Amino acid sequence: MSISTTAEQGVLEHRLTAADRCDSCGAQAYIAAEVNGSELLFCAHHGRKYEEKLRSVATSWHDETDRLLA
Ligand SMILES: [Zn+2]
Repeated sequence: MSISTTAEQGVLEHRLTAADRCDSCGAQAYIAAEVNGSELLFCAHHGRKYEEKLRSVATSWHDETDRLLA
């Protein structure tokens, strides 16, 4: 599985806030993945780290890491 950084899904909905925290380290979350009906939040670092595994099981993938590049 290759890692793509393209935003092919079009305009991203920015709904994560400073109150949303990474489940792994507590940093601000920029990625939200829905797995088995529950939402997991990750910072950019952990989102990338777990992306390959989660992509296969997540029913939705929400990525706001483009905000870090702005
Ligand atoms: Zn993290």
